[in-house]
Amino acid sequence: MIRVTLPDGSIKEMAQGATPMDVAKSISEGLARNVISASYNGTTIETTTTLTTDGTLVLYTWNDVAGKKAFWHSTSHVMAQALEELYPGIKLTLGPAIDNGFYYDVDFGDQKITDADFKKIEDRVLEISREKHEFKMRPVSKAEALEVYKNNEYKTELISNLEDGTITFCDHANFFDLCRGGHIPNTGIIKAMKILSVAGAYWRGDEKNKQLTRVYGISFPKQKDLTDYLELLEEAKRRDHRKLGKELDLFHFSQKVGQGLPLWLPKGAALRDRLEQFLKKAQKKAGYEQVVTPHIGMKDLYVTSGHYAKYGADSFQPIHTPAEGEEFLLKPMNCPHHCEIYNARPWSYKDLPKRYAEFGTVYRYEQSGELHGLTRVRGFTQDDAHIFCTPDQLDAEFKNVIDLVLYVFGSLGFENFTAQVSVRDLDNPDKYIGSVENWEKAENAIISAAKDKGLNYVIEAGEAAFYGPKLDFMVKDALGRSWQLGTIQVDYNLPERFELSYKGADDKLHRPVMIHRAPFGSMERFIAILLEHTAGNFPIWLMPEQAIILSLSEKYENYAKKVLDLLENHEIRALIDNRNETIGKKIREAEMKKYPFMLIVGEEEEKNGTISVRQRGQEGKGNISVTIEEFAAIINEEINKTLKQF
Ligand SMILES: [Zn+2]
Ligand SMILES: [Zn+2]
Repeated sequence: MIRVTLPDGSIKEMAQGATPMDVAKSISEGLARNVISASYNGTTIETTTTLTTDGTLVLYTWNDVAGKKAFWHSTSHVMAQALEELYPGIKLTLGPAIDNGFYYDVDFGDQKITDADFKKIEDRVLEISREKHEFKMRPVSKAEALEVYKNNEYKTELISNLEDGTITFCDHANFFDLCRGGHIPNTGIIKAMKILSVAGAYWRGDEKNKQLTRVYGISFPKQKDLTDYLELLEEAKRRDHRKLGKELDLFHFSQKVGQGLPLWLPKGAALRDRLEQFLKKAQKKAGYEQVVTPHIGMKDLYVTSGHYAKYGADSFQPIHTPAEGEEFLLKPMNCPHHCEIYNARPWSYKDLPKRYAEFGTVYRYEQSGELHGLTRVRGFTQDDAHIFCTPDQLDAEFKNVIDLVLYVFGSLGFENFTAQVSVRDLDNPDKYIGSVENWEKAENAIISAAKDKGLNYVIEAGEAAFYGPKLDFMVKDALGRSWQLGTIQVDYNLPERFELSYKGADDKLHRPVMIHRAPFGSMERFIAILLEHTAGNFPIWLMPEQAIILSLSEKYENYAKKVLDLLENHEIRALIDNRNETIGKKIREAEMKKYPFMLIVGEEEEKNGTISVRQRGQEGKGNISVTIEEFAAIINEEINKTLKQF
């Protein structure tokens, strides 16, 4: 008998050689029908793998991330089989599951795969799937594996790096592939499959190597899941922030300025400014003070901070000056500058905490292939702040920062989020700088604050930064995609490196604790996420223009201007469209530009001193005729729905 421990802590006594599927059956037939993968003592296995020792078993269904991974990775085997049949002589390399689907990197030799071929490959994959072939693992010797793949230099390279006795193939139908395992029971549960795209990919990601073709696909246990997924992809395309940024005149990239360096157009700059003002106001209430620091700093500053040793080689290289030996770095982080602000004078424990905030622009060198719209750029502005406090104040400060982050999310319509506490990997203590005692203090402070604030959080070992543990918020957007926003980080390391101190009640010098935090993260990335989350329909308080005045003809220009003046008196941001166009065309364009309110003015309105209000996206409802005062009340009510006081 073996003892199998399940995630809920219960123990099943099973016969030696029982399989995960046997365990599932012993729990319930329903579970057995849905189990598609398993892990034993942390290693992914098949549901048919025999268990020979005591251990901890996790059973996965399609609803688990690990279940989906097994499903998608298994489909990549089937796709590889179809590709080999349809393109004889190709060389297969690696075919892993990814976050959404899977890919297979293939050397197609002289053959070519195009969009037009996708359908026939998908058809063949589904045909094989319907035949319900089992996935079976088979151990092979290294010599045999090398012999089988003697004409495939990629697999040969992979096999050469493996120990004899650990090599396995996975068989299904008459196909086999080098693989270490993690498959669904059989091909029959793959009911829908789509090839999403093909792209070039260097072998092992190294551009010195040969370029292969990466075939991306996705598969599902139900046709409807695929249909839903493809609709989601279409919606994501419609909401792509690069597309919306252009349509709404927010930002622009110029090859002359440089890749990954966004240029903010007037409307985008106004949007950013509004976000900054919003956060500055809340931060002021929370006791932060604004500071300003330069865009560059002496290289030594970053040698002191440790950033240079860690990231120097992959960053923008030092800037030289006419002075011999003088070197500056573009600021990759604001923290060292803020440490020096703290160091500008001596402090007593009675002065703390000090909270320094800055919308600080930083520069990080990203590979050009990694750049993506506003989400991966080379220059960006962090809504950064550093809190310097005593160890006793750490808990309270951490909780205050969480309150601020939650306020930001609430005001911007991010309702759905979870938190992740990133702690050390205890097996790799050398990865981190700072004392074990300090790390423990910091980790405990974060966990207690997360608990106290009722956050829905998970603890991830090994995800901490090299200088301290952190709390990250994972926000779900309107399309169900997760984004990491709002990092809060405890740091015992920089205070040490910059020799920060304060005089305690005991009259002795002590090190303050430092907290790094950025609710938005970066303005660029945050605006990209907000654009895709709202499809450009920002909360009304944030809109660069809250209303557009549409005149029925040029005759009413003077009245339109009068309305604009009155709106400005009520602090409502508006503009006039006085072109000689039909009102229908003006409305359509205003809808596309996402103006929340369209205010139509003509003879009737001028006579009565009113405006005819039409709300975006409510074409069926007809216009309402109101005075400016009444309209101001409507807009304020809309604003108060999302923008609360901090
Ligand atoms: Zn496999
Ligand atoms: Zn920092």
